[in-house]
Amino acid sequence: MELVFASNNQHKLREIREIAGDNYQILSLEDIGFHEEIDETELTLEGNALLKARAVHQRFNKNVFADDTGLEVEALDGRPGVFSARYAGEGCSFEDNVKKLLQELKGIENRKARFRTAIALIISDKEYFFEGIVNGMITEAPSGGGGFGYDPVFLPDGYQQNFAEMDGETKNKISHRGRAMEKLFAFLKSFHNKTK
Ligand code: IMP
Repeated sequence: MELVFASNNQHKLREIREIAGDNYQILSLEDIGFHEEIDETELTLEGNALLKARAVHQRFNKNVFADDTGLEVEALDGRPGVFSARYAGEGCSFEDNVKKLLQELKGIENRKARFRTAIALIISDKEYFFEGIVNGMITEAPSGGGGFGYDPVFLPDGYQQNFAEMDGETKNKISHRGRAMEKLFAFLKSFHNKTK
């Protein structure tokens, strides 16, 4: 089955294609010829995910899902949250964001944080939401060469390796996006069984 993932983020596409398996052909925005920027103007992860999914659905009338993820740090009252990508300013790099985060948490003992992913799915013209959360803590310094974004400073609860140090398969199993995707694909399976 073809399903559009409303993103061109190669890191996410790789992760999602691994999770989706052979039953789904996951198409990117580039694959379907959608070249405009979709501005994430909403103030919630769910709002931004829906905005992206609707933009594609309205133009292409294809089954589509979109995600939005935020890193929510307890000592920062849930920041950077929905602003995780632009935490250190417009056009900033992953490294800039990590640097700013470590700076803000300097001397703060409570390092508790969580990644939260919201997925919006539009299938057969109906809208559905899925959520995935992974709890953990922000380390004192970055390490590891894998992953992206805040991975080098995010240590998931119960693990000795941060997200940038563990292999992709392990990250997918326990990550926010992995968990939200699991719910999405479980839903799709029962959806198709019902409509068969
Ligand atoms: P997005 O809006 O879903 O692309 O996510 C916003 C920002 O959250 C990204 O720019 C990354 O900095 C961060 N982020 C999202 N997913 C991950 C992840 O799996 N690991 C680390 N950082 C992530």
